[in-house]
Amino acid sequence: MCITEIGTIALYQSSVLSQFENIVHGFTTRKGGVSKGAYESLSMSPRRGDDIECVHKNEEILCRELSLDIKKLTSTRQEHTDTVEIIDEERIGIGVKTPWDYGVDACITTHKNVPLLCYSADCVPVLMYAQDIGAVAAVHAGWRGTQSGISKKTVQKLIELGANPKNIYAAIGPCIGQCCYEVDGDVALKFEEKYYEKKPMNKYMLDLGKVNFDLIKDCGIDEENISLSGICTKCNNDSFFSHRGQNGKSGTLAGIICMRE
Ligand SMILES: [Zn+2]
Repeated sequence: MCITEIGTIALYQSSVLSQFENIVHGFTTRKGGVSKGAYESLSMSPRRGDDIECVHKNEEILCRELSLDIKKLTSTRQEHTDTVEIIDEERIGIGVKTPWDYGVDACITTHKNVPLLCYSADCVPVLMYAQDIGAVAAVHAGWRGTQSGISKKTVQKLIELGANPKNIYAAIGPCIGQCCYEVDGDVALKFEEKYYEKKPMNKYMLDLGKVNFDLIKDCGIDEENISLSGICTKCNNDSFFSHRGQNGKSGTLAGIICMRE
């Protein structure tokens, strides 16, 4: 995964997705927005306490720099669910222009020029492209979503829509690394032993990125078509918002993906 400066913003992009000329994608950093304080500066979620005017301005900046249609910007309503929804014609713009009335942690669309957003600040953002059916997806996976397999459910939905797993490409963005993600046994022990390291006092270091990698791989996607950023949001709090690194008060990053004509 490499960083690209685009106008005033800086995005991490994966070669797994940037090999496709019709796919615009990236994982935002803090750089280039107008939000202040803990939200400084490119904070993307309207539901994390930031000034809504600043969030809308940041949406405009992101869409402008990537030449995307802000009127079609569509996003999740993240509540740690395992709900994956398909964005059809009527739903274009939901999550930004109009609200979801229930929690949706992953979106899929087969429409072109519809940018999909997912938000994160330590949680795992995943972007996908199913080349054969022309569909993109944006997924938010915290530990609950990871445990309930939302990444896998998103791939399964793409397969239901007709995709061959060999034609699915996935990029897992910056998230809290195993280096920093300390959890208690009640969380860690929900996962297989290979995903955590045991520490004293019922503490465990959990690797959520790797769990998501395996969830996707186990759907039949080729390993070389999945990228794992390996970048820890907490270790790199200067560049990324980090829920843990900022004691629970932080802005949010976005994963964004859009299929062009
Ligand atoms: Zn770290």
